[in-house]
Amino acid sequence: MENRSFNPSPEWRQIFESLEKPLLYASHNDFANLKKLKGLEPYVHTWLDKAGRLGPPPFPRDLLQGFGTALLGFDALDLEAKKSRVREARGLLNKMKAGEPPGEDLPSLPTFSEFQKMLQELKTPIQYLKGVGPRLSEILKKKNLRTVDDALYFLPRAYEDRRFIKKISQLTVGKHETAVGEVLSSDIVHHGRRRSFTVMMGDETGILTAKWFNFNPRFMKGRFRKGMRVILSGEIRMFQFQKEIHHPEIEVLEDPGEKGKEPSPDSAPGEESLHFQRIVPIYSETEGLYQRQRLIRRIQKRVVDQFAAKAVSGLPAEICRRQGFIPLSEALRRVHFPDLQEDIQTLQERKSPAHRRLIFEEFFFMEIGLALRRSGTALEKGIAFPISHRYTQKLRSLLPFALTPAQDRVIREIEGDMRKPHPMTRLLQGDVGSGKTLVALTAALMAIEGGYQVAIMAPTEILAEQHFLNIRTLIEQLGLRSCLLTSSLKKKPREVLLQDLQNGAVHIAIGTHALIQGGVEFRNLGLAIIDEQHKFGVLQRATLKRKGYHPDVLVMTATPIPRTLAMTLYGDLDVSIIDQLPPGRGVITTRVFAEKERYQVYRLLREEIAKGKQAYVVYPLVEESERLDLKDATQMAAHLQRDIFPEFKVGLIHGRMKSEEKETVMADFKGRRLQVLVSTIVIEVGIDVPNASVMVIEHAERFGLSQLHQLRGRVGRSQDPAQCLLIAQYRRSEDAEQRLRVMEKTRDGFKIAEEDLAIRGPGELLGTQQSGLPEFRVADFVRDFSLLAEARKEAFAVIDQDPTLSKPEHYLMKETLKERWKGKLELARVG
Ligand code: ADP
Ligand code: MG
Repeated sequence: MENRSFNPSPEWRQIFESLEKPLLYASHNDFANLKKLKGLEPYVHTWLDKAGRLGPPPFPRDLLQGFGTALLGFDALDLEAKKSRVREARGLLNKMKAGEPPGEDLPSLPTFSEFQKMLQELKTPIQYLKGVGPRLSEILKKKNLRTVDDALYFLPRAYEDRRFIKKISQLTVGKHETAVGEVLSSDIVHHGRRRSFTVMMGDETGILTAKWFNFNPRFMKGRFRKGMRVILSGEIRMFQFQKEIHHPEIEVLEDPGEKGKEPSPDSAPGEESLHFQRIVPIYSETEGLYQRQRLIRRIQKRVVDQFAAKAVSGLPAEICRRQGFIPLSEALRRVHFPDLQEDIQTLQERKSPAHRRLIFEEFFFMEIGLALRRSGTALEKGIAFPISHRYTQKLRSLLPFALTPAQDRVIREIEGDMRKPHPMTRLLQGDVGSGKTLVALTAALMAIEGGYQVAIMAPTEILAEQHFLNIRTLIEQLGLRSCLLTSSLKKKPREVLLQDLQNGAVHIAIGTHALIQGGVEFRNLGLAIIDEQHKFGVLQRATLKRKGYHPDVLVMTATPIPRTLAMTLYGDLDVSIIDQLPPGRGVITTRVFAEKERYQVYRLLREEIAKGKQAYVVYPLVEESERLDLKDATQMAAHLQRDIFPEFKVGLIHGRMKSEEKETVMADFKGRRLQVLVSTIVIEVGIDVPNASVMVIEHAERFGLSQLHQLRGRVGRSQDPAQCLLIAQYRRSEDAEQRLRVMEKTRDGFKIAEEDLAIRGPGELLGTQQSGLPEFRVADFVRDFSLLAEARKEAFAVIDQDPTLSKPEHYLMKETLKERWKGKLELARVG
């Protein structure tokens, strides 16, 4: 065949040549050399592996697949069969070399009703599948497998290379290999002081011993029977001239003892090809399904065969081409049942073309949602606040200090947003003590100047109270009214309060979740301020927003998130950063102490109090019953008062106290009637007592880095030096050790956030369940971060071109999006 204009890359040319060489040799002179040809199959597969790593081939992919299949089990064939296989392979190779243009990979877009029909079919309960009855479907439910769609996205936890199964005599010591054998005997064997569960397996070429050193005797004894055929894989070792394998992966192929007992799909005939001579998927098992890999695999095969083709998405063809993606249905097929020539390593690492496609899908539709929400609010009609600075000017004159340049800049950014006739959605980031509260209050006053009400929502009651106390004193001097709304409010005062909100007598409502509950109505809510973004998430933000008519939203967080991550995850928010602490802040010295150095901590504490300062002592938990080895805050408060600091007043505050009690304690501490405040982590955020200069944290090894940083931020709020004393158990994990060192090293919240990111990874840092983002079935923030960035870029480019997704070529994307985000997205604009 003449080579048209096809010009393969040098890599592909090398592969063609290497594949062709043995075939030419074999067929030369009417197959004269065929008998001499040995080891063709492993040789060919080495090259096919290489081909697999090159990315999409410049010819239809099934040619490669066919080529591998043609030479399967080659050595065992008779001469005639070998001849015809060699001819077949050469034919396929010629087609590859001719470089047929790749077939149009993407099916043309289905119509709306076709798409709906496919979605419907994917929701078929798994129970209706052949071979899955009610009993099995109950078991699958425990794995959250209800529909065929669930099953399609239930991906293998590992893959096993069973393309070349060797005879026992051929197994190489030191390599990870797979073999098939018959159980000859199984028993517990004692070797001196150790014992193992030992199974002898044999085939016609030799014996292989499988050993387990940690095992459950009853379980293992019941697991093996003489005459059973099993497939096992693991690293081959040599022990006393015998080949051994320790703790192998094992799968029962045939169990004579079970015959007739269960005619289940486990022993269906003619499906060897599913479990052999291929890369085999291994699924995570569940109660009731131990040792039933073959069953799970068979179900999955059925699901893939019948339903993978129904999976379509609106990922634009252009993006697929640019990113070199395979179609979704093909990805689903190959992720479960990889093609022969695929690279096992990339599969295990979730980096195969199939994995990449599925991961990208998930990220892309999350980012499209965020991009859309952002463009949506940018287009939405909102309030253009007429800002007179009547109140804000007055506020400035009431303060004993000037705002920092950073505060001023951020306020200008907010003002710019508020004046625009579209809703603001801005994230305000600033380290603990950077003065976010004042910025928030200024924003609130700008809204009030236009005749609107403001809601401020905080994650805990204590913090809401704190805001309330701070804000009330200031705005009362401006002749304005605020109120505190929490769930501990009694019925009567609550009713009065709700009334005042509704008729507009109250200007600023401060509260917890209670603010977004039913029954709370505003006369004209214009601005919603949400403190501590990560504790609320997208959903609650939306609920609060609905209490007004397209109000502006300002989200504040003291957990600095590295900018890249914030951009990627809160893509729908504009970000302002206060990157400067108010002047005159004293240094904070941070030191880690061991339990036996406790007396030193007490000495430092006493010295500070003697200077007229105050101290916090923080414990992780409230009640002893929760963990015996943790010091109980209540008990310790009593102990400190009685035995250590009888000359001072020690107070206690914790989350289970009534709010009046808490208020009294806080007031006493602020008023310096208490010198030491023992508390649980309720003081983590927002408490502001500048005279406090010592923060003692007990069991510091149990706290997360951002928590430690937050706690430390409670001190160092005046120009005097402050101390953060961390008492940690000597026995601690490596991560804990790292956290404590970071605390000693730096006070910079952004540095700490980055370290935290490195230690914990972004998933945990942000808590995706709470964030209100769609959940991932395949993707992983940490592992797949670079794909996330890629997906974000593509998604935002799409929305830039088509801000409401109304172009006809995007209709399927829009439909897919609605499906993925379900009710989670306010897609008013998308309709
Ligand atoms: P954040 O909420 O960011 O942790 P706060 O708003 O609670 O910080 O402010 C911390 C402390 O700093 C408060 O006592 C506040 O009155 C004070 N403060 C805020 N802005 C300034 C400023 N520009 N100059 C001096 N002190 C300030
Ligand atoms: Mg604050």
